[in-house]
Amino acid sequence: MSHTPADEPPTTAKDWHARAHALRPPTLPFIDGAEHKPATDRTFATVNPATGETITEVAACTEGEVDLAVRAARTAFEDGRWSRRAPEERKRVLLRLAALIEEHGPELALYDTLEMGKPISDTLGGDVPGAAGCFSWHAEAADKLYGETAPLPPGEVALVRRVPLGVIGAVVPWNFPLDMAAWKLAPALAAGNSVVLKPAEQSPLSALRLAALASEAGLPDGVLNVVPGRGEEAGRALGLHPDVDALAFTGSTAVGKLFLEYAAASNLKQIWPECGGKSPNLLFPDADLEAAAERAAWGFTCNGGQICSANTRLLVHTDIAEEFTARVVAHAAALVPGDPLDPLTAYGPLVDETQVARLAGELAGARERGGTVHGGTRPGMTGAYLEPAVVTGLGPDDRLAREELFGPVLTVLPFADEDEAVRTANDSPYGLAASVWTRDLSRAHRVADALCAGTVSVNTVDALDPRTPFGGFKQSGYGRDLSAHSFAKYTGLKTTWISYR
Ligand code: NAD
Repeated sequence: MSHTPADEPPTTAKDWHARAHALRPPTLPFIDGAEHKPATDRTFATVNPATGETITEVAACTEGEVDLAVRAARTAFEDGRWSRRAPEERKRVLLRLAALIEEHGPELALYDTLEMGKPISDTLGGDVPGAAGCFSWHAEAADKLYGETAPLPPGEVALVRRVPLGVIGAVVPWNFPLDMAAWKLAPALAAGNSVVLKPAEQSPLSALRLAALASEAGLPDGVLNVVPGRGEEAGRALGLHPDVDALAFTGSTAVGKLFLEYAAASNLKQIWPECGGKSPNLLFPDADLEAAAERAAWGFTCNGGQICSANTRLLVHTDIAEEFTARVVAHAAALVPGDPLDPLTAYGPLVDETQVARLAGELAGARERGGTVHGGTRPGMTGAYLEPAVVTGLGPDDRLAREELFGPVLTVLPFADEDEAVRTANDSPYGLAASVWTRDLSRAHRVADALCAGTVSVNTVDALDPRTPFGGFKQSGYGRDLSAHSFAKYTGLKTTWISYR
């Protein structure tokens, strides 16, 4: 088993590089409690976007490994080694896992930083505690999920309980590799299910390591299986598998729709898609403009803008549009692209060259259509870097204002009044998140009520926490990650009716 001892995180870029050099990442699928050697030698490379170098070759699972993993998960579920354990015992194991995630934080942070370019200060300071916190919150909830009794006549009683569904498939993206895995696994496991997780091909390492840590924490064999592989192979096989009861997906809307087709073509498994977004950030003239400008810039540049709920449409009142946009441009321009292994770096590379080329093409198109692009150049350094771009001069119908670009590109759309702001904000195929900046409490409530978004943040951007549900409306998907509401995806309602007259 690949293993790196837990210890204190390095504090300098040099030491992080040395630690990265010494890593021995897991490369095999984790099935039935152990690393599994697949039938074929097929692999795929995971690549460091900061250098273009291959980190390692990872086994590419296909239908055979997915089937093996689902079988292991089914056996574990049916014999009750986890599904019939007392909730407080499940809680204890998952709390141990949360502690192990913290303990192995530097190693897990390194995998995500090396594979997708997120600065190490973010992975260590944000993603690792985020994943640990997600496990501990849902672990604590495991023994607090009460059922209900129905108001029946005397002599009849009906117990209505939430029971685990069985085998859960989970397919996740690369933008928060560890956290997206935790968002699915924590409630699914806390509720007593078995899981087969397919991480994104760009970023499988932290998920593989997580499976080994779960085993170390006491999760029985077969309860958590991880099958790295390509979407069209391993992801598709999981979506089509006839013995998967529900599949939780986070990723693009296009692939989310494919999973609905897979379910229809196989066993009608429940599909829970959490998909894309094009979130509006509404700026009224009475807001704290300096705080708003700083957060608006953060909102579309954090993680290279590769966040489903990133605030990529800036809707700003015409009275302040010019001045406010200049402030946002200044904040974005102050972000210096740097080595993601340097603890001082706040802005790293994007996930890969394809992403940079696609976004550069979008910005060129925006210029041709009359838009003005502030920033958005490729710095003269090795790696998949692109400076943040703020685009003005395009209308709300332009593709830059409608398509999810999934990168550090902000489209500025001035508005004349509140009605126009809400209309423009809601004129989108997505409905994941929105932000409103105003000091007028009535307007804050009025606009928040009118916006179609799973989360509306007022005087902040992109607020989220394990205690609140995360998810959207329209083509952002449905179902909710995080909070007690997430258990609805991984449990079914079961009624036991007793007649005792
Ligand atoms: P993606 O849809 O390309 O891939 C997501 C996952 O699906 C990966 O594991 C991939 O291997 C798999 N996949 C790809 N093609 C498949 C296929 N044909 N059949 C089965 N599985 C397949 O998305 P991505 O590029 O990895 O991530 C970016 C997307 O994720 C963005 O659209 C973003 O908005 C979305 N996202 C949504 C949320 C949310 O909670 N709503 C959170 C993070 C990211």
